[in-house]
Amino acid sequence: MQRRQILKTLGLSALASSILGQSVSGQSVLGEWAQAASAPVASGGWQNWSKSLAPSKADVETPQTTADLIRLLQTTKGAVRPVGSGHSWTPLVPAGDDGKIVRLDAFNGVRSLDKTKQTAWLGAGARLKDLSPALAEQGLAFRNLGDIDVQSLAGATSTATHGTGKNLPCLAAEIKGLKLITGAGEEMEFSANSNANLLPAAQVALGTLGVLTEIEMQLVPRHKLHRRVRFMPYPQVLAEAENMWQAHRNFEFFYIPFSGTAMVITHDETDAPETPRATNESDESDDGVMQLKALRDYLGWFPFLRKRLLGAAIANAPEENIIGESWQLLASARNVHFNEMEYHLPPEVALDVLDEVRDLIEREHPDVFFPFECRMTAADTAWLSPFNAGPRVSVAVHTHAPDAYDFLFTKIEPIFQRAGGRPHWGKLNSLSGAQVRALYPKFDDFAKLRSELDPDNRLLNPYLRELFGATS
Ligand SMILES: Cc1cc2nc3c(=O)[nH]c(=O)nc-3n(C[C@H](O)[C@H](O)[C@H](O)COP(=O)(O)OP(=O)(O)OC[C@H]3O[C@@H](n4cnc5c(N)ncnc54)[C@H](O)[C@@H]3O)c2cc1C
Repeated sequence: MQRRQILKTLGLSALASSILGQSVSGQSVLGEWAQAASAPVASGGWQNWSKSLAPSKADVETPQTTADLIRLLQTTKGAVRPVGSGHSWTPLVPAGDDGKIVRLDAFNGVRSLDKTKQTAWLGAGARLKDLSPALAEQGLAFRNLGDIDVQSLAGATSTATHGTGKNLPCLAAEIKGLKLITGAGEEMEFSANSNANLLPAAQVALGTLGVLTEIEMQLVPRHKLHRRVRFMPYPQVLAEAENMWQAHRNFEFFYIPFSGTAMVITHDETDAPETPRATNESDESDDGVMQLKALRDYLGWFPFLRKRLLGAAIANAPEENIIGESWQLLASARNVHFNEMEYHLPPEVALDVLDEVRDLIEREHPDVFFPFECRMTAADTAWLSPFNAGPRVSVAVHTHAPDAYDFLFTKIEPIFQRAGGRPHWGKLNSLSGAQVRALYPKFDDFAKLRSELDPDNRLLNPYLRELFGATS
């Protein structure tokens, strides 16, 4: 396509839905495809979604029952690492060439449900996107979701996956009970009835206390949300962010680099009728972000022109107002592969940090075109939750998967660290075991419990060995 043609198509009218890859039809268009991307690769190994990790040649096992899993841990040697849908960037899953990666796909579905307490025991390997409609049939829903819902329940909770909302904690905080098979091959339950004092240790555990088989989640009644998406001048968003977090159930924004503008998204509960949905939204899903890429490709070294074109296009973008089921609106597809670093920051400094990052990138990295994301998560008490010292505002920087991202480590991460941030467990970061230990007051307690439940370190790979200071 000629440059003129590309620029002509920059109406960006679909920007709101397509930057997000948002499918307002409620179908995660990434769906099966995303899982396939993290499924065993043709050579018999495994690779993560963004392919940021080298392919692993470890055997991929799919136990069908708890007995299979116990047998696997008791009768084999080498590392055993559980995997969900492979949507993490940190090397949590690779098990080494002679180890085993364990997929819990057979541990799925709604196992039992207590409608009075609004809790349910769910298969740990179930995908969030499959659980949501099953729960909706029972009149229930997850309180909150992140940007996507193709993760497994165990995978999402194990890294403290979060959405946004001043009063909404991460998914792991909703865990009321869980069952796992320890590294020694023993079945254990952590719940109000069993090992209750250790439940906060097991809520966020990176798959290092055991392989989760079932998780009991606190749910809420099925509900509808009104989603509003609009563009606002970035300085105005910074000035109003705190009020918007206060005023809306869910509030987040995406700053579009080199534009001076942010896309603001709010969700609020409503009883209003659902909005009819367009049928072509999935087709548009890659357009916005690829249009931002086209502008980067052709005008990367002309920031003034880039900003003017973006500004003009955004000025014409219509506001989006949609009403639908919570799970159909909160999560959406991400079709364009990217790499991401996200740090959770004390709210009082987070917006200044975001602005420092924006300034640095706009001065030194014209190659960046993915929007930066800013969200808030309520506090919880899990020992390894990044949110256990209070609510946190998360700032995320993304780069297109084919692009270099070493500057995230050399230039962006030091800004996050100076501000007292803790990294998302599943997203790019370079923290050593000593650095992690300094950030988490209960780290040593967790490490002690880990070595009791996995005395032979079967559930550790080299990355986790370094993190937990394990020598064997
Ligand atoms: C496109 C994209 C969008 C994302 N959006 C968000 C977002 O909005 N918010 C957010 O917070 N994060 C987000 N993430 C990060 C993602 O939610 C986390 O990395 C999450 O852990 C991935 O879940 P998974 O099922 O793919 O788990 P995996 O990446 O496969 O595994 C993650 C961890 O869980 C462990 N695990 C998996 N299954 C089990 C089990 N049965 N028992 C014990 N441990 C287990 C693994 O060993 C590993 O330590 C996103 C990632 C991508 C690629």
